[in-house]
Amino acid sequence: MQTDSQPKDLQNKYTSRPGILIAGPCSAETELQILNVAEALSKTGVDYMRAGIWKPRTSPGHFEGIGTQGLKWLQTASKQYGIKVATEVATAKHVEEALEHGIDMLWVGARTTVNPFAVQEIADALQGVKIPVMVKNPVNPDLSLWMGAIKRLMNAGLSTIIACHRGFNVYQKTLLRNAPLWEIPIELKRLMPEIPLICDPSHICGNRESLLKIAQKSMDLGYEGLILEVHPNPDKAWSDAAQQVTPEGFMQLLSQLRYKKQSSDDRFYNSRIQFLREEIDEIDGRLMELIAARLESARKIGQLKNQNGVAFYQHDRWTEVLSHCKQLAEQLHINENFAVELFNLLHLTALDIQGE
Ligand code: PEP
Ligand code: MN
Repeated sequence: MQTDSQPKDLQNKYTSRPGILIAGPCSAETELQILNVAEALSKTGVDYMRAGIWKPRTSPGHFEGIGTQGLKWLQTASKQYGIKVATEVATAKHVEEALEHGIDMLWVGARTTVNPFAVQEIADALQGVKIPVMVKNPVNPDLSLWMGAIKRLMNAGLSTIIACHRGFNVYQKTLLRNAPLWEIPIELKRLMPEIPLICDPSHICGNRESLLKIAQKSMDLGYEGLILEVHPNPDKAWSDAAQQVTPEGFMQLLSQLRYKKQSSDDRFYNSRIQFLREEIDEIDGRLMELIAARLESARKIGQLKNQNGVAFYQHDRWTEVLSHCKQLAEQLHINENFAVELFNLLHLTALDIQGE
């Protein structure tokens, strides 16, 4: 995390840490576990220690949180080690109890953000209260639902609201527990630039191995912070064992991250990037003209098919176009998945135009 030990050129290129840093166990389990982790984290300079007290689990039969007694442990840990504490709330009663116990930050979990009634209940309970609240993305890839939850909390007069990207449940299983779908948080940042955006690599990954890659990617995309699950004995954790790291593992991960700046004062960098950006704008212009020409050809084909009573979708022709696309992608060293996705979009748009 410190840059002191880095070579001079690295000190120049990178800033030293993400803006907001939150770490702690998935769940509070015992008082000793909370005190242990609080002691370790108090030496790392994190802004908040996280610990779930009430755990919304997808399926029954798993540990659903230690409940209210855990709030006292957080309070004790906070006093003893001078660390601020954060927990998840899903109902007005949770808010009330968390506030009574002096919790410093609250978060709305992914399974709650999906429910406007629950979010409104939380917002109403927070009316006039000055406490930072973090809003995780909803489990489903729905940007409006995420923004809606943020707006409900804004309307309650909260001054510090943080958006937290924890990935999205998609049916296709991948190596990651939740698909990042980076375009959604990027669009959130574009539409709500004043809301700090942080990343939760633990819940995106579901495993320890990918944490660094996802955390680094979020830093490269200009995220303003990280929340990571840290447990004194991860393998024995009562929830989310596979994705938690020890406090040492957490520090190691932080030391491996590279935090990039938003801009540079270097004259050569600035003139070169301006030149390259003009080049990109010019290419985009040509690209759009070519796309317009392609869609115009598709429209003419549609007319011809219509006049002859021929169906718009032709399976053999599409197979031919797709294999041409893959061949071109290989020749031109373009990622095949990207090329296929682009052609799918062009094809569907052309079919829409023909159907008009
Ligand atoms: C959590 O942070 O422990 C949690 C339950 O996360 P999410 O709401 O992102 O699933
Ligand atoms: Mn968890």
